[in-house]
Amino acid sequence: MENCLFCKIARGDIPAKKVHEDALCFAFEDIQPQAPTHVLVCPREHVASLAEAQAGHQEMLGHLLATAAGIAQKRGLGAFRTVVNTGAEAGQSVLHLHVHLLGGRAMGWPPG
Ligand code: 5GP
Ligand code: ZN
Repeated sequence: MENCLFCKIARGDIPAKKVHEDALCFAFEDIQPQAPTHVLVCPREHVASLAEAQAGHQEMLGHLLATAAGIAQKRGLGAFRTVVNTGAEAGQSVLHLHVHLLGGRAMGWPPG
């Protein structure tokens, strides 16, 4: 999508520290990390949020989580959190689906 921040990162129009790329997804370091590891895993296809995902996106959705887990494993994270904010009230600020991978520190529950 022309004006989407994460589509621009996917195309390389905006620089980002990419940590993974494949046919279905790409992952990069969050610009404002909330933990020692804070990576965003995004589909290559522009899907605005989890609420817009369709039945045909099941493979991609599973792939995002598997990729996040793979990055956590590579970094030796014994514990980590994956978060998908959906909608402004839940904290979504970029309208391109993304999984936050957070790790490297203890985390509280429930989240704010
Ligand atoms: P959300 O709030 O939508 O769940 O998550 C969006 C995330 O994107 C935030 O954690 C924010 O720090 C990150 N972010 C926003 N703009 C940029 C950017 O230009 N580059 C990178 N690497 N991350 C960004
Ligand atoms: Zn996009």
